[in-house]
Amino acid sequence: MKKPDMIEAKKRNKREVEYTQYTKKEDLFGKNKKYFVRTYGCQMNEHDSEKICGMLESVGYIKSESYEDADIVILNTCAIRENAHDKVFGFLGVLKHIKDTTNPNLLVGLCGCMAQEEVVVSNIINKYKYVDFVFGTHNLDNMLNIIKEKIDTSKNQIEVLSFEGDVVEGIPMHRDSIYSAWIDIQYGCDKFCTYCIVPYTRGAQRSRKKEDILSEVKDLKEKGYKEITLLGQNVNAYGKDLYDDYDLSNLLEDSAKIGIDRIRFVTSHPWDFTDNMVNIIAKYDNIMPYIHLPLQSGSNKVLKLMNRKYTKEEYIELYNKIRNKVKGCSITTDIIVGFPGETEEDFNETLEIAEQLKFDGAFTFAFSKRENTPAALMKETVSEEEKLDRLHKLNEVINKYSLESNNKMVDKIVKCLVIGESEKDSSKVCGYTENMKLVNIDGPHSIIGKIVNVKIEEAKSFSLDGKYIKD
Ligand code: SAM
Ligand code: SF4
Repeated sequence: MKKPDMIEAKKRNKREVEYTQYTKKEDLFGKNKKYFVRTYGCQMNEHDSEKICGMLESVGYIKSESYEDADIVILNTCAIRENAHDKVFGFLGVLKHIKDTTNPNLLVGLCGCMAQEEVVVSNIINKYKYVDFVFGTHNLDNMLNIIKEKIDTSKNQIEVLSFEGDVVEGIPMHRDSIYSAWIDIQYGCDKFCTYCIVPYTRGAQRSRKKEDILSEVKDLKEKGYKEITLLGQNVNAYGKDLYDDYDLSNLLEDSAKIGIDRIRFVTSHPWDFTDNMVNIIAKYDNIMPYIHLPLQSGSNKVLKLMNRKYTKEEYIELYNKIRNKVKGCSITTDIIVGFPGETEEDFNETLEIAEQLKFDGAFTFAFSKRENTPAALMKETVSEEEKLDRLHKLNEVINKYSLESNNKMVDKIVKCLVIGESEKDSSKVCGYTENMKLVNIDGPHSIIGKIVNVKIEEAKSFSLDGKYIKD
């Protein structure tokens, strides 16, 4: 048994990152069995789940649409806020019921960021004995060996490593979409924002080698993919740990030259955003005009407490630079309210900056105390009720400008990548504009997977309605 250790996870020992190749397993022990994977949290988790599915399928498991008839269920978890935990423990309760009643042989596994937390794993060992295996973010590639060991020995398996992490290439993948693909470009994070658990659960920042990324881009283009999204916690810091003279601007340019239709990247950190990056994004038509640029707070005092390493003035300068240089660019953000020490005045500064910058959209969060992070030691000064009140006020401003930005699209003819059937109306399809607006499209299902012209007819706060225009 290997349990997580948050103190170890915090260390940055400057060890050399090992770049290794995944070892394929020949034993088809999942043959004629079904799997179900439930994913919580960010795009990185979504993409890790594509690897979990790929590995399970490589030993014979078949994807099941429902956990009720699966032989193995894996929960790929998120630890970013406390409420993420509640959902996972709730679902574990449902799975226990299935094990107690209809399927005692069901295998239940937990992985992802929650598995990297000491308190969670202790809880699982003591109170959730029906969880058959736990593995962390650093040994995803060892998942099949862990499952096989459980099957062969019937002993519960806990294997979580707490170190800076390595890079494993060649893990099999079952991509969810055949049009749009995620590509990891870096893992982990070294920023240590004081509220955030990611540097502890995902290890040190380590970039994938450019050759491996670019060959994945080429391969996806050859397979007919229309869109790629380069993924990392701080994509603008790409390469800093690996190269002296190759950064995100170079990677974007080299990817753009491969000629895939659409390139996106997420998440950006204002700290590492260079002028050169802005220029490259503006230069290439196939680098999409959409940037997610987390602000977190509009108060310099709170930004400092958060260890964000930029001031609101620097953020505004970068924001305006992007808006001026990248034609038609949308900018969205993340904002936390109720950080320890955030006064009414600090919060008003956040409201002011939201009014001033008019974001195209934002994810807004109430501060959630995460164990072992520096902010967990700060005295909480904002009540839960006050946090919700601030969140409500902020969302009103955010939604107002989101609608305003969507309204500007009405009557325009824009290019959309159609990704599937509309969730709201099965007679329609849906897709994304270049600047990442969701459009419900009145058009035939035959345009799914294509980039088509759409006339925008109506704007809502979170989506647009439009009509397919034949070439
Ligand atoms: N790496 C990205 C960045 O620096 O902006 C995003 C990381 S995180 C997965 C996504 C968002 O969750 C953060 O931008 C932050 O707004 C929010 N978040 C992280 N920790 C939080 C906490 N303890 N309480 C509330 N929100 C949090
Ligand atoms: Fe968390 Fe900050 Fe790293 Fe983003 S940059 S993952 S918020 S520590």
